[in-house]
Amino acid sequence: MTDLKKNYIAGEWIPGIAEIENRNPSDLSDLVGMFAQASADDLEAALDQAKQAQKAWEAYGMERKQAVLMNIGNELMARAEELGTLLSREEGKPIAEGKGEVFRAGQFFTYYAAECLRQLGENADSVRAGVEIDVRREPVGVVAVISPWNFPTATASWKIAPALCYGNAVLWKPANATPASAVALTEIISRQDIPKGLFSLVMGSGRKIGQKLVESPKVNAITFTGSVPVGKGIASAAIQNLTKVQMEMGSKNALAVMDDADIDLAVTVALGGAFGGTGQKCTASSRLVVHEAVHDAFVEKLVAGTKAMQVGHALEAGTQMGPVVSEQQLRENLAYVDLGRSEGAELACGGERLNMPHEGFYMSPGVFLNSSNSMRINREEMFAPLTSVIKVGSYDEALSVVNDTNFGLTSGIVTQSLARATHFRRNARTGVVTVNLPTAGTDYHVPFGGRGDSSYGSREQGKAAAEFYTTVKTAYISAGDPT
Ligand code: NDP
Repeated sequence: MTDLKKNYIAGEWIPGIAEIENRNPSDLSDLVGMFAQASADDLEAALDQAKQAQKAWEAYGMERKQAVLMNIGNELMARAEELGTLLSREEGKPIAEGKGEVFRAGQFFTYYAAECLRQLGENADSVRAGVEIDVRREPVGVVAVISPWNFPTATASWKIAPALCYGNAVLWKPANATPASAVALTEIISRQDIPKGLFSLVMGSGRKIGQKLVESPKVNAITFTGSVPVGKGIASAAIQNLTKVQMEMGSKNALAVMDDADIDLAVTVALGGAFGGTGQKCTASSRLVVHEAVHDAFVEKLVAGTKAMQVGHALEAGTQMGPVVSEQQLRENLAYVDLGRSEGAELACGGERLNMPHEGFYMSPGVFLNSSNSMRINREEMFAPLTSVIKVGSYDEALSVVNDTNFGLTSGIVTQSLARATHFRRNARTGVVTVNLPTAGTDYHVPFGGRGDSSYGSREQGKAAAEFYTTVKTAYISAGDPT
């Protein structure tokens, strides 16, 4: 009999109205756990208590808040091995990536712990004599955090940590595909010196409890990472209550490989960017835009490297790429393989369901050649271990292909020319640009976000997060006559 993992509502662990099972995508015989699904009443209770708790938290001294965030961060880092294993077990990414993710999540908390002590305002003289102006940031109030399954701990942490740092209460609706990581993080937060109900975990399906959460007038701000259609629905629900909203959605990132590129470096960068996290990253390199002068040499090594990748159980040593997250995702990926072929692209390798010793959602990483940027496989986010090579004749053509997308999260260039790297950095229409590095892999102390359909609202992470999690107050003070 497996223990039911409960929701954390208004300071209590509550069983909910239903339960779901969570299975390991590397081995479907492995039951990760049973997880409660919150009711609408649970949600209301959490929202009501959050409002009161937020006032108490706002009144905490800054060192007390800093200690809470520091404790959470330190515990995540100290337990990265254990919690990273759990994460990999339920999500399917290789164990090194799972551990790395939990450690990084800890760093978000320690970074924002320090930010608790660095909240400086501005002041100015008024245009009126004898009047001073004080500009400061105040919490927005109750923040709804809606996070995806692909980075279940890191994405949630880069939202929860700044929300708490800047004085807000949090209601977290994690992805139903990765509830174990959510319960583990919540268990750490629940043991801290925080007001009852400051933080609630509300597990359940996005369409049901998630939708109720984003429609609630008791929510002051919504931060979301996930797909474009769900994001658009959330934005239209938010606007009904004029709720502040920030969204991080899909992408179609391109890596440009120039004629002067170090080919071995380009192949390493492309393989890491395309197949890390089984390609299930919003920053994945899913378009490889390659100069014709190096095309054949690059493709030969890319295909060889792709075929050599070891696909296997996320927790087994030597695994370089784990399974995809679910049967539905696997079917969608295989449908994109068929689509790419029917559009005229050549599948050089991979793109097949794999039968492994354990039953799971395995597929081989795939590379399309002879693809054009107008094909659907190069326009839609596949969220799969699939990448497409697009051959171009010049740097100018490469830049124009990179920018020819509805998305705009990350882009990269591999070149030895400072002039081209500089031009690319200034002219790529994405929120993140990389030079001689994969399009995936970002730091926590600087802004993260994109353009076009990739993002909506202000940037996440670093000091930029203050824009979303606070509201600005401008005070005018007349000192009066000192005599
Ligand atoms: P979704 O957009 O469906 O889900 C993201 C989060 O939103 C989950 O917590 C989900 O809950 C929740 N949600 C779903 N519907 C609603 C709703 N109506 N109101 C409020 N919350 C809701 O993404 P998926 O995880 O299903 O993946 C689908 C696609 O999204 C992927 O194939 C990929 O293209 C993209 N994606 C992009 C990510 C990125 O980092 N940019 C991350 C993950 C996905 P629940 O899980 O319970 O449905």
